[in-house]
Amino acid sequence: MTNRAYNFNAGPAALPLEVLQQAQEQFVDYHGAGMSIMEMSHRSAAYEQVNNETQALLREMYGISDNYHVLFLQGGASTQFAMFPMNLLAPDRVGAYVMTGSWADKALKEGKLIGETAIAASSEADEYRRIPALSDIVIPERAAYVHITSNETIEGTQFQAFPDTKDVPLIADMSSDILSRPVDINKFGMIYAGAQKNLGPSGVTVVIIRKDLAESSPKTLPTMLRYDTHAKNNSLYNTPPSFSVFMVNLVLKWIQSKGGVEQVAELNRAKTNLIYNAIDQSGGFYKGFAHTDSRSMMNVTFRIHSEELEKQFVKESEQQGFVGLKGHRSVGGLRASTYNAVTHESCQALASFMADFQKRNG
Ligand SMILES: *Cc1c(COP(=O)(O)O)cnc(C)c1O
Repeated sequence: MTNRAYNFNAGPAALPLEVLQQAQEQFVDYHGAGMSIMEMSHRSAAYEQVNNETQALLREMYGISDNYHVLFLQGGASTQFAMFPMNLLAPDRVGAYVMTGSWADKALKEGKLIGETAIAASSEADEYRRIPALSDIVIPERAAYVHITSNETIEGTQFQAFPDTKDVPLIADMSSDILSRPVDINKFGMIYAGAQKNLGPSGVTVVIIRKDLAESSPKTLPTMLRYDTHAKNNSLYNTPPSFSVFMVNLVLKWIQSKGGVEQVAELNRAKTNLIYNAIDQSGGFYKGFAHTDSRSMMNVTFRIHSEELEKQFVKESEQQGFVGLKGHRSVGGLRASTYNAVTHESCQALASFMADFQKRNG
């Protein structure tokens, strides 16, 4: 067996070994076609089947009704930051944003380029260490939408429940926690996610959008930037990122083989608790960045009292086969990203390493 690292990368991130092996088997010759899926026309029956089946799997796994389109787009979640206001923020309306951290901030910045925005709630005064209380969210009049970041990848915080925004569409950036836990899709007007954390490799962005919202784009909007273009063409208006969609297909089947999203959520909780316990039982040697009631099940952020020790932690962890434990440059410290494909074994190994490191340096 090849030597697999304990991969805690934030994104692109670990993929299930089984998925990589399946892809490898089909890499050169896809189901006897004499070519890989990458070398085929996106209009071929074989690719159309991948495209349709991947949508169907996502619908089934997340309970997505016929009220929604499931789209496979390009440009990453970062393009969505601009694309949803371009489509949904009319000149007389306000885009409302819940400010939870670095990614919410990037979404807001793009929204401001397109139209009028407002901050519906913010935890910036707390250094984004928590998710604002749902009761603190104020939806402005004329709101076109309320935007949230369901999991803040850099700060390591996550919405534990979602706000009820009544008639105002709730839009969520779920890039770093899509399919990590059950979600009631009907609460949302739109959900989007770059694939490279929980869904597959980079290159495809999943958009789940209520059908009525996908029909309201301004007439002047360029073709490729309109949701209705992609909806009408089954995400095949132009050449799709076919290999990435194929990989998402395999990842969805892998989630299914684990028993679905609910089971995966259980596995995630058990995995992440190993690391949070190592923090909580360290007597203050490790300090969690996020408030306990806002802790993410996908990105565990923590610090040690000296930056010297943090550097040493990263260095020694790398020598022992761990990858990706350095915190994001904007908040510093340490971060373990524990997405769906990160194994229980990796998390167990990290918890042991943390205890051992503390013993030697505490
Ligand atoms: C990674 C990430 C993004 C950026 O995704 P790209 O696909 O690189 O544009 C946006 N939002 C969140 C929450 C992320 O974790």
